Amino acid sequence: MSAPMISLEGLTSTTSFDQLLATAKSGGCASSTCGLSGKPDDMDPAVWEKIKDHPCFSEEAHHYFARMHVAVAPACNVQCNYCNRKYDCANESRPGVVSEKLTPDQALRKVIAVANEVPQLSVLGIAGPGDACYDWKKTKATFERVVGEIPDIKLCISTNGLALPDHVAELVDMNVDHVTITINMVDPEVGAKIYPWIFYDHRRYVGIEAARILHERQMLGLEMLTARGILTKINSVMIPGVNDEHLIEVNRWVKERGAFLHNVMPLISDPAHGTHFGLTGQRGPNAMEMKTLQDRLEGGAKLMRHCRQCRADAVGLLGEDRGQEFALDSIPGEVTYDPSRREAYQEVVARERHDHVAARSEAIGMVKAAGSGKSLLVAVATRGGGRVNEHFGHAKELQVYEVSPRGISFVGHRKVEQYCLGGRGDNATLDGVIAALEGIDVVLCAKIGNCPKDQLAEAGIRATDAYGHDYIETAISALYAAEFGIQPLAATA
Ligand code: SF4
Ligand code: SF4
Repeated sequence: MSAPMISLEGLTSTTSFDQLLATAKSGGCASSTCGLSGKPDDMDPAVWEKIKDHPCFSEEAHHYFARMHVAVAPACNVQCNYCNRKYDCANESRPGVVSEKLTPDQALRKVIAVANEVPQLSVLGIAGPGDACYDWKKTKATFERVVGEIPDIKLCISTNGLALPDHVAELVDMNVDHVTITINMVDPEVGAKIYPWIFYDHRRYVGIEAARILHERQMLGLEMLTARGILTKINSVMIPGVNDEHLIEVNRWVKERGAFLHNVMPLISDPAHGTHFGLTGQRGPNAMEMKTLQDRLEGGAKLMRHCRQCRADAVGLLGEDRGQEFALDSIPGEVTYDPSRREAYQEVVARERHDHVAARSEAIGMVKAAGSGKSLLVAVATRGGGRVNEHFGHAKELQVYEVSPRGISFVGHRKVEQYCLGGRGDNATLDGVIAALEGIDVVLCAKIGNCPKDQLAEAGIRATDAYGHDYIETAISALYAAEFGIQPLAATA
């Protein structure tokens, strides 16, 4: 598949906005199937319509669309042993202080400012820094204000589930059709090791009783959402030795109750964060332990593997955080929503995406037809748009794909420290990057110097920029063909 006429690269910066508009105005999508591009064959079109622009509910959408979280809900009714209230909600965030808590009016200003500047924005989420359902008045007021100004934005909440059943009817009324519940256990004995207390019905509960109530409320909330057609994602924090094996049972329970996705995330545990687990030496899983558990869960509730454990005030594509660009004191007191940038972007994406879907299908067909029996783990440096388009030295994460006789699948990402700053690479940083790439066979990137390439090779990891700017799947299929001496045209013969 040749490169398309339209590229998203560069189209999202301020300086290229005229280009974005010109591209959008140059004609509508030629295909009547654009709206369905990327839809899995076995998915209901109505469900696809809900998720196709949601970067968390669709792996494919996360190459194109961005979310923002507004930190309007600081109060919480549960204590998790992996959370310190000074930090973001670990359910949905990496530890790090929320830069600023917002009132609903401040949140509205910020959302408008972001929507005017970040054309990829499609989802507004409330993920704490406490619990969106417990701090309900602020959650509801924020959503009502925002949809009054930006009616097409998707609304999303994240909750521990304890207060969820009380608000399902209002979620339906507000057209919130994506909800995340963090469910770490279905056995209260396991739960008692994770939750020291909950606050429910005007009282504090501890131990197994607390975990039992939380479990019952989580299951009730999930069932209520499923019955009303709201898509649910279940987040589970993998805590080695506490609930890692148990998450297989959790996956079964939530699948039976209609969960749309199951997102297993690694415990982030650092004594510096001051959490109970951090201070008592409870470790998190490493990347290969995560992958092994996720592989065991295949066949159950469908897995989300592209979660980035974002901050509760994150802004941008998954894996990038532009939150600092939109600090409240940098936003004018009066802001007016201008939909032109988002509309133009959506039109361009519809066309690019159609081309991407065709390229991916061809690439996966070639890999399956090759019948080589071999597999590779490939780490890709990308800035979005579904392409190999980031320099190795500039990458802050690499997306990991598995290519095997079953096809090409996204299986996760590896966070890394940026190796090259100001044109110079740092050897100590490179050592850390190499360690983070444990188990990876090949790195694909837009550019890489000889020095990091040689050091990667010494660690048994090949790296190449030969497929720079290709679609990721096209690049991986060409790599696969080259690695195993397969004729690239075999699939179409
Ligand atoms: S539910 Fe979220 S905010 Fe509340 S204690 Fe757990 S991780 Fe922290
Ligand atoms: S924490 Fe995960 S699910 Fe939530 S916005 Fe980030 S990527 Fe999406």
